[in-house]
Amino acid sequence: MADEFDVIVVGTGAGGGTLAHTLAPSGKQILLLERGTFLKKELENWDAEPVFVDGRYISSDTWYDGDGTPFQPQVHYFVGGATKLYGAALYRLRPEDFGEIQHVDGVSPAWPMSYDEFEPWYTKAEWLYQVHGSHGEDPTEGHCSKQYPWPPVSHEPRIQQISDSLQRAGYHPFHAPCGILLDEADRAASTCIRCATCDGYACLVHAKADAEVIAVRPLLSQPNMTLLLNSEVVRLEIDPSGRTVTGVVVDHGPDGKEEIYRASIVVLAAGAANTAKILLRSASEACPNGLANGSDQVGRNYMFHLSKAVSGFGEDVNETVFQKTLGINDFYLAGDGREYPLGNIQMLGKSSAGAMKGEEPHLTKLVPHWGLEEAARHAVDWWLTTEDLPKPDNRVTVEEDGNIRLAYTSSNEAEAEGLYKEMRKVLNHVGLAKHHVLHKSFYMSMNIPLAGCAHQAGTCRFGTDPATSVLDVNCKAHEVDNLYVADTSFFPSIGAVNPGLTAMANAIRVGEHIAERLGASATGGAWANSPRVGSGGHPATAISVPR
Ligand SMILES: Cc1cc2nc3c(=O)[nH]c(=O)nc-3n(C[C@H](O)[C@H](O)[C@H](O)COP(=O)(O)OP(=O)(O)OC[C@H]3O[C@@H](n4cnc5c(N)ncnc54)[C@H](O)[C@@H]3O)c2cc1C
Repeated sequence: MADEFDVIVVGTGAGGGTLAHTLAPSGKQILLLERGTFLKKELENWDAEPVFVDGRYISSDTWYDGDGTPFQPQVHYFVGGATKLYGAALYRLRPEDFGEIQHVDGVSPAWPMSYDEFEPWYTKAEWLYQVHGSHGEDPTEGHCSKQYPWPPVSHEPRIQQISDSLQRAGYHPFHAPCGILLDEADRAASTCIRCATCDGYACLVHAKADAEVIAVRPLLSQPNMTLLLNSEVVRLEIDPSGRTVTGVVVDHGPDGKEEIYRASIVVLAAGAANTAKILLRSASEACPNGLANGSDQVGRNYMFHLSKAVSGFGEDVNETVFQKTLGINDFYLAGDGREYPLGNIQMLGKSSAGAMKGEEPHLTKLVPHWGLEEAARHAVDWWLTTEDLPKPDNRVTVEEDGNIRLAYTSSNEAEAEGLYKEMRKVLNHVGLAKHHVLHKSFYMSMNIPLAGCAHQAGTCRFGTDPATSVLDVNCKAHEVDNLYVADTSFFPSIGAVNPGLTAMANAIRVGEHIAERLGASATGGAWANSPRVGSGGHPATAISVPR
């Protein structure tokens, strides 16, 4: 292994994995540091009870809330990061999300870039992550320079029925963008078997377009790439001027020892909470409040969405297997009688008795003629997302024991309630309110909402003013010459769609910038591994996945 690298990337998830993938063709020596290991392919990947009841893939970390109460955060430390368990719903933010938006509890701030400026990287990310969808169906979408590489995943009969019924009622349902390795025209060539285990599960056959499968695995044989597992970055070392990172300090676990790695450029992509933690723990004489933190912004403005999972239980059995094919953005923006935006509605992975166990023990009382098995057969499952605001006091700090403290108070609850009311109307239209509509927590074994930090973002926001942001427009720390951040920390606001695609797009953007800075080309990166397009927009081959 080389002693010194051109670039060290910390974290292999949506941000770090994608950035490494972008930089790899430059030929520069790249070290990827990952605190976890590869997520094992095992039957439990697809088994609801170990996944949702036992929390098999959740880290054993302890974090504290603002009052100091400990909780177990829903974080996942594997190659691929949170994308190993994600639902692969790969949405773009709306153009309006890049500007200021007035919400019931305040203003969601503008980004230092417009949607149109950011758009080229959305297209690159959609092609890299093999997104299936149909640009042009959702009226709230911004422009796209290229159609999705794959046609949308087709609705199964029950979902098609719901879509038709919504359309007749004047709604604008659209095919949701899905990152899966599916070829509906040629099942034999398809890795995805279209099962019900995308959302919250790891994919046993590696057919989910996650950061391990798409970004990191294809790099493993490249001579300029080094991946170190079980390598938790604990702090960065800085020169006396406070402007140059000189070392990345890594804890290799109980049996290992601390090592220091060096590179010309260091990129943090450990996830919004852990990236802030690393910077805060890197305080030194040169930067007593933490690295890159002269503005006192590191760790602040934490956002994670107001999210609600809702199951509608109708008379009809819902035989759908892959349920995540439909979205509704009719309430995303203000207007049409709405003073404020409410958010996005999309479908969840199909619930199962195993996933409901422990989560809805009262369900059998409410529908005594159904057991959990039967209730799950009738359920149609939805996911509601409302934007929360970046508030300075919603912040990550580090406790004396080295663990994260996450102080958080929600905003825009009235909007979330408004979206839920609209959801009930939707359910009425599609005949799913006949029995019961139940709130349910997606993370059934965890009752602390703060623990559901799947969509964490905002702790090192980018901007043009060093007094109010941590990163500049290229996601380089304002105060440090060789330090970048490429995970969801950079979000100045979070919008109301899932953050994954925006993190991936931004990582490609930052990766290209770093390649240029190093005098290299990254043009092979995102595009070279994109599927080839045959006639009709179908890639001729899916990316092959080494075992
Ligand atoms: C269950 C679930 C479902 C989701 N569904 C969707 C969805 O459908 N669509 C969507 O867009 N988004 C979804 N998300 C969110 C999405 O996965 C995240 O927004 C995205 O992965 C964030 O990317 P990131 O690079 O910031 O962090 P991550 O992808 O989490 O990557 C962080 C990486 O850093 C590593 N790491 C952490 N600390 C250290 C350290 N100190 N040293 C070294 N390595 C470290 C971690 O192990 C991890 O590999 C979901 C998330 C979850 C958990």
